Amino acid sequence: MRVVQTIDALKEAKKKLAGSIGFVPTMGALHKGHLSLIQQAKQENDHVIVSVFVNPTQFLEGEDLESYPRKEEADKKICELAGVDILFMPSSDQMYEKDELKIAAPAIRGYILEGERRPGHFDGMLQVVMKLLNLSGAQKAYFGKKDAQQLVLIMQMVKTYFMNVQIVPCEIVRDEDGLALSSRNVYLSEEEKSRALSLSKSLKRATKCIMSGELDTKTIKNKMLEVLKETDRVEYVAIVDREFNNLKQIELGNTIILVAARVGKPRLIDNLWI
Ligand code: AMP
Repeated sequence: MRVVQTIDALKEAKKKLAGSIGFVPTMGALHKGHLSLIQQAKQENDHVIVSVFVNPTQFLEGEDLESYPRKEEADKKICELAGVDILFMPSSDQMYEKDELKIAAPAIRGYILEGERRPGHFDGMLQVVMKLLNLSGAQKAYFGKKDAQQLVLIMQMVKTYFMNVQIVPCEIVRDEDGLALSSRNVYLSEEEKSRALSLSKSLKRATKCIMSGELDTKTIKNKMLEVLKETDRVEYVAIVDREFNNLKQIELGNTIILVAARVGKPRLIDNLWI
């Protein structure tokens, strides 16, 4: 595996790869969720490039940019063992110049739910993903459904800008109790971790409702809110279609149920695609 820190070194390393490239962009502190993306990329491509970059432009004032978990040495080992060909770990200077041209998230879809709580977050995320996709030269790029709104916006960006890459949505990886894996879970104490389970439990409750024939989204949301009382603050429960339009009735095959809540320090998100 080649570990490269500069764009020039990445370009050099890429010259040695023959065949298709799968790309997995991350912010590091890799866990089994990231690993599942890497493994899928391995299966579907001749070569895999992973990036680890804690992108400053997607953090808002007062968010955890400085304290975001960084585990570079462990990340290198995980990627090496997973058979990654190139690990790209750039500095901000490599990625950004002054007075840049900006990519902007769409006015509605980019400013509801996560975008409403974190205005501008998706601008920064799309900006860096555009750069990383172009640098990787990958035919396929792998993103988790865990960040559902992010995934949908990236797919829209690829469509809007006629980009030559296929975005592959990957399933959410959870721990044995159901908690969706996240680099930010390290912020949770044991007590908070057990309360954090109420996010996935609320999604299970929603599944149960739907299986019993309940398709009214208002009723389902209320049932979910009962379970979410264990969190410190519910930020939203939303039931949308795959394009993030609100739904009154569940549409099988075209629904995403999303939840965001605070438990202790971190805000946690989880979702279910139906
Ligand atoms: P991050 O490092 O948090 O920016 O995540 C990098 C990629 O891993 C994104 O596409 C995430 O959606 C994905 N990811 C993070 N957590 C999970 C998880 N628990 N299951 C599947 N994919 C995940």
